[in-house]
Amino acid sequence: MNGESHRAGIIDSVPVCIMLLVPDGSLRDMNPAGLAMVEADSLERIRGKPYHHIVAPEFRSSFQALVRKVAGGGTDSLEYQITGLKGTRRWLDVHAVPFHYANGPDRYILAVARDTTERVQREGKTRYDQKMEIISTLTSGIAHDFNNILTAIIGYATVMKMKLPEDDLLRPMALQILAASERASGLTKGLLSFGSKQILNLEQVDLNDIVRNATGIFEKESGGAITVSLNLAPARLAGMVDEGQIEQSLLNIMANARDAMPSGGTLSISTETMELEDTFISIHGYGVKGSYGVIALTDSGRGMDERTRRKVFEPFFTTKEPGKGTGLGLAIVYGSIKSHRGFVNVYSEPGTGTTFRVYLPLSGDRLKHASAAASLCPEGRGETILIGDNEGGARKVVASVLERFGYRVLQASDGGEALRLFQEQADQVRLVMLDIFMPVLNGKEVCDEIIRLRPGTRVVFTSGYTADIIRQKHLLSDNVPFIAKPVSPRDLLTKIREVLDT
Ligand code: ADP
Ligand code: MG
Repeated sequence: MNGESHRAGIIDSVPVCIMLLVPDGSLRDMNPAGLAMVEADSLERIRGKPYHHIVAPEFRSSFQALVRKVAGGGTDSLEYQITGLKGTRRWLDVHAVPFHYANGPDRYILAVARDTTERVQREGKTRYDQKMEIISTLTSGIAHDFNNILTAIIGYATVMKMKLPEDDLLRPMALQILAASERASGLTKGLLSFGSKQILNLEQVDLNDIVRNATGIFEKESGGAITVSLNLAPARLAGMVDEGQIEQSLLNIMANARDAMPSGGTLSISTETMELEDTFISIHGYGVKGSYGVIALTDSGRGMDERTRRKVFEPFFTTKEPGKGTGLGLAIVYGSIKSHRGFVNVYSEPGTGTTFRVYLPLSGDRLKHASAAASLCPEGRGETILIGDNEGGARKVVASVLERFGYRVLQASDGGEALRLFQEQADQVRLVMLDIFMPVLNGKEVCDEIIRLRPGTRVVFTSGYTADIIRQKHLLSDNVPFIAKPVSPRDLLTKIREVLDT
């Protein structure tokens, strides 16, 4: 074998792209590894065509600068992206030098390019993880300290309210302080769960059951404008998870899907099992080996651009108008899934739609039968429920969940109105749900009056504070039913049914 064909054999076999460009930037020759990278079945497909058509638009001008420099006798290198003929994006690291054959006058650009996609993705993922870690440390630090401060504010404002006579001009101000600190406490809760600082209530659950329930709740809440298609893995996906947190995460993703489809559309939800092995991990740059349950949620909504996609999981990132979005929905999803040792990712194109994929480790153990059976949301049987809550947003959410699940609902926006409504319809009202801090009369005062009027009436309290803070402050005795805000629909329905049936 002579030296030349020997070298040709090497060029045909090296796993890097070797190509020859004409000074105008069109392709003259390319080895098989290069053809595979650009997804061309043969050299004829692309020979003579401008190479920069394959270069991703944002790198074209840098690539053309490289071509000019090397055509002028210099050398250059560049890391850039291409879009292969079949649409795959790759990162290439190219080094280019001037070249001419010993027996010819023509000048060429000889370029050698390595596929660096895996490395770039790994680095990007590491940087992303580091960024999220920093934000998470910062927010949970702030949230934690802030919670302590809020506890003091709430404590003193409560004492003030109790000491101030009914007709004191300062009383409404104390109530405002309480209402505002209740909102702040809601935000703080969100931040704490982004920082994965919430306690997990782990149980063996079939992930399919959680998906089924969340979908049911979503369908009832969204009232038919969105077509939901459910495609569940036939096998059970047994995971050790906090059912409430996973359900809430799915509902957050679904709420965003609904917002992205203001005039309707489809939401497809599917589950499957997946073995994560080394190849997946090295291609994507994340994950730990093992079996996972994958929940994929795809909407046909407006989608998002690259910049939005990179920021969706950050707390307070929102593209919605003030009052519509808090930017905490996906931050909470990220935190919850992470504390389950799972991960979540997003694919999206503007105008086409969005897919969120949630990966949760499967535990492989056998399911406890109890949790599978207990997974349906208990419904109402036409009972009338009176809700007293001055926070309109929270009250409406609770009301709409209850109405869709078979209850009749009366709403009051302060303690006085709650009492008035109760007096008017005392025969019908089966249960009263009272926010603890309300203007005019607080939850406890309303409750005392209602019990005086009708001793057997069932009462449930709610608040943005955790039950123990409220019990510490003696606003609630130990055996009174309590639901913490923000209320998850499942907890709400379960608790209401339980209280009605005892
Ligand atoms: P919020 O819903 O309060 O804005 P999120 O954390 O839930 O906060 O979402 C952050 C942002 O991510 C949204 O404002 C929106 O721009 C974007 N987003 C999330 N889900 C979708 C989706 N399915 N389609 C389009 N954009 C989405
Ligand atoms: Mg949201």
